[in-house]
Amino acid sequence: MTLMDNIGSLAKRRGFIYPGSEIYGGIAGFWDYGPLGVELKNNIKREWWKSMVYARDDVVGLDAAIVMNPEVWEASGHMSSFTDPLVECKACHKRFRSDKPELLAAHEKEHKEKVEWTEPKIFNLLTEVLLGVTEPKMTAYLRGEITQGVFVNFRNVVDSSRVKVPFGVAQIGKAFRNEITPGNFTFRSREFEQMELEYFVRPDEKNASEVFEYWKQARMAWYLSLGMNKTKLRFREHEPEERAHYAKKAWDIEYEAPFGWSEFEGIHHRGDWDLSRHKLVYTDPETNEGYTPWVIETSGGVDRATLFFLIDAYVQEEKRIVLKLHSRLAPVKAAVFPLVSNKPDIVKKAREVYTLLKKHFVASWDDRGNIGKRYLSQDEIGTPWCLTIDYDTLGSDTVTVRDRDTTSQTRVNISQLQSYIQEKLGGTI
Ligand code: ATP
Repeated sequence: MTLMDNIGSLAKRRGFIYPGSEIYGGIAGFWDYGPLGVELKNNIKREWWKSMVYARDDVVGLDAAIVMNPEVWEASGHMSSFTDPLVECKACHKRFRSDKPELLAAHEKEHKEKVEWTEPKIFNLLTEVLLGVTEPKMTAYLRGEITQGVFVNFRNVVDSSRVKVPFGVAQIGKAFRNEITPGNFTFRSREFEQMELEYFVRPDEKNASEVFEYWKQARMAWYLSLGMNKTKLRFREHEPEERAHYAKKAWDIEYEAPFGWSEFEGIHHRGDWDLSRHKLVYTDPETNEGYTPWVIETSGGVDRATLFFLIDAYVQEEKRIVLKLHSRLAPVKAAVFPLVSNKPDIVKKAREVYTLLKKHFVASWDDRGNIGKRYLSQDEIGTPWCLTIDYDTLGSDTVTVRDRDTTSQTRVNISQLQSYIQEKLGGTI
């Protein structure tokens, strides 16, 4: 089994990620997040929102609609430029992106004879939706990037809040792309989530470059602060021919996945591309000067981040599999075990502890099998602390707290448990 097989099997077995519509044979490029997956993904999004919105005075949030007036996509250039080149293998009719030579080379190896490819065809990635009940229906699009929702609301945000350039608008939401070759588990999906910041600055190259560099470093620091392994991360600058139609400059943050170095966040200098295409300007409230701000964007994929946090945390030790997720990302913070399930005093006490903790953290209850097996089960889903209520608890009001990473155990008074965990999590969750 490869590491990706192990991750896929753990994700399914323990309820992180399931193939979409599985009982009907699935559907390529769509995935469902199970009970633990939704917690992990929500924790990633919450940490992002806290650092990008709540911790700052210069960023506000937004949640725009997925379907927009189709004119938005004409103006933004996506109708003409949001495309990938598609080629088809003449022998087996499988389709690939011709700008991904590694995929073509891998496919050529599968055939014994030389592969002939069709001429590349340009293929638009926007997913069409038909709206209305009477014919002809209106063709609209599921958004291919969440970004445009921010630009079309630029004036609304400026008029309705107290932001002044420089400022940012943060958004998290679903995007859809008709990817030619979805694959590598959730890495390339047709439906996925993005977490993005559009940061508006004065049109000045020196200042924009400084802001660009600031966000580049800030985004890398965020992944490191949540425990991602530094040696698995790198920056990569896009070559001019690789850049999206809107980008003046683009750098990716890449992770060394089992399938190679792969982008999961982009930092883009979008210049005045979007605001000027939408004919939007800004008036400085102090000087009354009007201008088109430039945009520095950080665009991260929630699903790719979730996948890479999972891969990064996966450790196969001699006797156990451990997900060494940062405690703030762990789906369950604490598991509560009554040592035995047939002693009413112990079970009652354990229930009290469980009820107390559930008010503050995601906690889980397990009274099956022996304690060793319960530890193994929690290790595999990354629960940082396991609390056992035993005979001593009845006299001393203390419980055993076992640490996931070191497996060491300490006794903590029940009245101190909440602050003990809170402190280790670094404040509020
Ligand atoms: P790629 O070159 O891999 O197709 P991209 O350069 O087109 O990606 P962007 O348009 O910069 O990606 O999108 C920003 C982020 O959105 C990406 O860094 C990634 O995390 C996420 N993303 C883009 N496409 C997908 C997809 N098909 N599935 C999952 N996440 C995606």
